[in-house]
Amino acid sequence: MISRHVAVIGAGAAGLVAARELRREGHRVVVFERGSRVGGTWVYTPGTERDPLGIDPSRPVVHSSLYKSLRTNLPREVMGFGDYPFLPRADGSGDSRRYPAHEEVLAYLEDFAREFGLEELLRFEEEIVGVGMADERGKWKVTWRTRNGGGDGGREEEVFDAVVVCNGHYTEPRIAEITGIDLWPGKQMHSHNYRTSEPFRDLVVVVIGSATSAVDISRDIAKVAKEVHVASRSYEVEPLGIQSGYDNLWLHPMIEKAHEDGKVTFLDGSFVGVDIILHCTGYKYHFPFLETNGIVSINDNRVGPLYKHVFPPHLAPWLSFVGLPWKAIPFPQFEYQSKWIAGVLSGRIALPSEEEMMEDVKDLYSQLEASGVPKRYTHNVADSQFEYNDWLAVQSGSRLSEEWRKEMYSETIRKMRARPVVYRDEDIEETLVSQAHEDFTKLPL
Ligand code: FAD
Repeated sequence: MISRHVAVIGAGAAGLVAARELRREGHRVVVFERGSRVGGTWVYTPGTERDPLGIDPSRPVVHSSLYKSLRTNLPREVMGFGDYPFLPRADGSGDSRRYPAHEEVLAYLEDFAREFGLEELLRFEEEIVGVGMADERGKWKVTWRTRNGGGDGGREEEVFDAVVVCNGHYTEPRIAEITGIDLWPGKQMHSHNYRTSEPFRDLVVVVIGSATSAVDISRDIAKVAKEVHVASRSYEVEPLGIQSGYDNLWLHPMIEKAHEDGKVTFLDGSFVGVDIILHCTGYKYHFPFLETNGIVSINDNRVGPLYKHVFPPHLAPWLSFVGLPWKAIPFPQFEYQSKWIAGVLSGRIALPSEEEMMEDVKDLYSQLEASGVPKRYTHNVADSQFEYNDWLAVQSGSRLSEEWRKEMYSETIRKMRARPVVYRDEDIEETLVSQAHEDFTKLPL
């Protein structure tokens, strides 16, 4: 097996597990992290960006989009890495709930880094600002700036054999387009900058979106706001109109127009005078440091071309991405992707030819187009995540997705859709829980 000099960008869940797998495979790894600790998204900060919509490209970026009240949307058994379960702490401290508060996830990732001795690979407060081809053929020149407590301590560079991008994709807001918004006099914010409900006290708020953040945040705000109106293109289960259990929370179809007098009209013809619009409309992939001469680009939130969401065929295996797919269980999938990348870099696993990989990418694009799926859903693996994970597992010779994980995940999604406010406190099928815990006892640790 060949040992490579590999740069990993980011020390969130993806960067940590990538570092572990790369080192296990015998590579020499450096993890660059612009923050001052591991955990990425899970490092909660009360601080927000000065531009509440997060669209000013010159703004100082706050990485995490967590809100204070956030609890996980997956049960801890499902959420954890395959060989390092996310269990309540043995000493009874912390939050032992099945869907714990965010602090518990951060503690888990810190434990993971400690358990596998990853600290020695980490370089904190070093922000990657350039990843481009080095003069030496096939290698990467990686440039970073040292931040020294947030400041700019100058630039340095080093040449690496390979770069694994793990910079997360929940930081760069995507905003809904609203007719008339330029003349509308109210305030706007993206959920990236939402922390607590207090600033919304006694206000009339429109929340746009129907994913987990929109559901959680609208209920959080309804405790203090005068009125909350949720507007969405899609409601899978909940009926429109006033929500049961609330006297100030309504669901509407999408906004039709924002008006100069402060009113907002919805496509069902209803209207309301609004103080603030909160966009819970998701995020964009963003790799400001990548200099690939257009070999990798982002088009309507499709990052491509990428073979199996990981390798750009023309630059494989020297550039790779961990964590791009969404609507999946993140941590175990990062692990499968990382094992594959590590094995390919060492020469243990062979990739198809560049032409074959391009064909595969084109096939995926054609299938999506034929099914009417927009480009921006290219990395949505909701219907294929376990198939995808198993494909990766076969490549790297690791074990397939556990049956209990698949079933527990389906049960969670069903309950989340049916009862989005209370599903976290409902019991889970006991036999699945026992199977999971029995599996955990067999792990090598
Ligand atoms: P991140 O955690 O974002 O880490 C990326 C890291 O890269 C950061 O530390 C960042 O500082 C660093 N970085 C970025 N750019 C640079 C650079 N140029 N140079 C150096 N370092 C850089 N997942 C679940 O499993 N369960 C949940 O309940 C859940 N809830 C969520 C709730 C919210 C509100 C959000 C936003 C996400 C949630 N997720 C959840 C998904 C979560 O993002 C993933 O679980 C996971 O943490 C993503 O890990 P990552 O390493 O890909 O990215």
